[in-house]
Amino acid sequence: MKKLMQLFCMLAVFIAGGVGVAAAKINAVATIPDLAELTRRIGGDLVNVSSLATGVEDIHAVPMKPSFAVLLNRADVVVLLGLEPEHAFLPGLLEAARNPKILRDAPGYIDCSTYVSVLEVPTRLDRALGDQHPMGNPHYNLDPVAMKEAARALTDGLIRNFPEDESTFKTNLAAVEADFDTNIARWEREAAPLKGKKIVSYHPDMVYFADRFGMDPVATIEIRAGIDPTPSHIEELIDRMRREKVDIVVRERHYPAGLAETIAQRTGAKLVELPVMVDGVPEATTYVGLIDYNLQAMLKAVQGGA
Ligand SMILES: [Zn+2]
Repeated sequence: MKKLMQLFCMLAVFIAGGVGVAAAKINAVATIPDLAELTRRIGGDLVNVSSLATGVEDIHAVPMKPSFAVLLNRADVVVLLGLEPEHAFLPGLLEAARNPKILRDAPGYIDCSTYVSVLEVPTRLDRALGDQHPMGNPHYNLDPVAMKEAARALTDGLIRNFPEDESTFKTNLAAVEADFDTNIARWEREAAPLKGKKIVSYHPDMVYFADRFGMDPVATIEIRAGIDPTPSHIEELIDRMRREKVDIVVRERHYPAGLAETIAQRTGAKLVELPVMVDGVPEATTYVGLIDYNLQAMLKAVQGGA
């Protein structure tokens, strides 16, 4: 009996200790590394952050792992792009995680798209055709100005859940915004040679990036978001690219190489292979590194081909 009591006491201490540790930090789960980094910067020492995607995946098809449900079960907040790019994995995981704090419409569900000016908003919803972008284009993480807006929505979300830490979040946000401003000014200067350059990408991932830096995203290798190309689509695309003198074909690195290579060869466009998230290539371990990598790859293509 004494032994049993001892065991109970140990268990109680263990549980109390566990709860104490859990309460010490805010547990945040972000869907992509870009948002994990922002959460880490705005939450500072107050947060413990994990990312579901590693950065190399197609955001529309991040493979679900049992460990994701465990992470989400323990999460105080989930931080997402919003606009439905996480539709293939997040709703199922939230159901499996059984955590009322982070269900859609619960305070812990932090949708970072609130302040983003959404591009390519469809005039009618037609998901029967398989459109992956029912709310408009969700790939705003490749536009630093949109990500600065995302930082603001993320800060609102953290304050909503942890009002006692508002001043810390706001101080950190101000530093993040100042960094964004400095880098955005530099990127806009560096991107000057990209103005007016025409690009075709595999999927409409590059629309915000193109818009920010004055490029013209004329078409995609996919028929439209999530719809694989047919041979006739490819022939029409090649004709159009020759006519319009498209400068660059982007293969986002999670799409197959062969087709983009063939299209580049047949049209004379330069092939550029790009990550679409932080950690999508070893050189892009930070958000600044991601935009630097993509800008430099584009610049190399247009300047090399001049
Ligand atoms: Zn997409």
